[in-house]
Amino acid sequence: MTETVLKNDAPARLPTVDSSRCDGCNQCIKACPRAAIYKPGEVTCSKCIKYCLSMEVPCSHARIAFSYEACDACGRCLSACVPRALSWASREWLFPRS
Ligand code: SF4
Ligand code: SF4
Repeated sequence: MTETVLKNDAPARLPTVDSSRCDGCNQCIKACPRAAIYKPGEVTCSKCIKYCLSMEVPCSHARIAFSYEACDACGRCLSACVPRALSWASREWLFPRS
């Protein structure tokens, strides 16, 4: 299993997505100057059942995902998101053991 490793000087807050509000418009991806947002690969249960059994890959239906190690918390993605699906979360909340 791969875990995101944040540097000690990582921003105190990072963007997070409410998937119930996200319509997959990609505006946040276009707005991010650091390529820190991407579309997760299409995953279906029939294809990933062996991973589900081992919990190697967390099940997610999110339309976007973050490369937090690249994010500098500029906030441009939040400004670009018309449905207001993005909000800030504290680094400690996202990565309690980092
Ligand atoms: S801009 Fe908002 S609604 Fe559009 S893909 Fe990004 S998070 Fe989802
Ligand atoms: S806060 Fe800035 S760097 Fe981080 S994901 Fe959003 S647009 Fe990209």
